[in-house]
This record gives sequence, C-alpha cells and structure tokens, in this order.
Amino acid sequence: MAAEPDCLFCRIAAGELPATRVDEDDRTITFMDINPATRGHVLVIPREHSKDLLEIDAEDLAAVTRAAQRIAQVMPERLDADGVNLLNSCGRAAWQTVFHFHMHVIPRYDADPLRLPWTPGPGEREAIADAARALEGG
Ligand code: 5GP
Ligand code: ZN
Repeated sequence: MAAEPDCLFCRIAAGELPATRVDEDDRTITFMDINPATRGHVLVIPREHSKDLLEIDAEDLAAVTRAAQRIAQVMPERLDADGVNLLNSCGRAAWQTVFHFHMHVIPRYDADPLRLPWTPGPGEREAIADAARALEGG
C-alpha cells in the first residue's frame, strides 16, 4: 500500500501514530479530530495516500463519502446532533493543513458557536455567468 513516510495521516493509517478510531473498512479509517470544532468531530481518510481532492482515486473518494455518511447517520441518535457538516479543504488557500486527503464530519448542535465563514450576498450577474462559462463541462 502506497504510504508517504513523512505524512501524518499515513502514519496514523499504518498504526505508527495513535488515533482514536471509530470506524474502518477496506479503504478508509475514521478517527477523532484532536482539535474538535464540536463534540464528535471526526476525520475520514483513505488508507492509500493522496494529497487532496484533485488527486484522490475516484473509488477512494466514493469510499470516503460512504464512510462519512455512515458516521453522520449515527450522530443524531448517539450524540444528539441536530445537523452535520461535511468539509473538505483542498489546498492552502482553502485552509488545508494536512496534505493527505480527509473529510471532516462535524456534528452540529442548535446552540453551537460555528458560523458560516462568508457573508451570503448576491453576486454580479455577469461575473457569475463568466465563471459559469469557465467551468462549463466540468
Ligand atoms: P485540514 O486543516 O487539513 O482541513 O484538517 C486537518 C485536521 O487534522 C485538523 O482539524 C486537525 O485538528 C487534525 N489533526 C492534525 N493533527 C492531528 C493528529 O495528530 N491527530 C488527529 N486525530 N487529528 C489531527
Ligand atoms: Zn498520507
């Protein structure tokens, strides 16, 4: 299995560094985040190293998404969560700090302190259309 010797999450996947695991399958491991945004914040990683969303193997991404859904589905009952956020940061500009793909699964509570990091407001029509043209076709 491809592993990067200096990668923190590869070392967790290999069992060389400790982590509090709550779920695993053939392709993924889910463990507690050491700096939780809310009670029950976990990370889902592929066992196989890939840097980020742009590089992850599609099957691994699907497996991570399924594992994220699996753990999210128990959060209302087991943690009394009122909602869940999935968050993936891809690149430094997007807040990524650990460069082994991971999905944050963050239980949300009605009274928790988390807030949207942007202020929603209408964009300029032409700027939206221009961005859409740039993205067309995926
Ligand atoms: P990012 O900022 O890349 O989206 O998320 C990295 C996450 O990994 C952060 O939420 C951070 O708290 C978590 N993290 C960093 N180092 C460790 C570690 O050694 N163990 C665990 N369990 N989580 C870590
Ligand atoms: Zn890695």
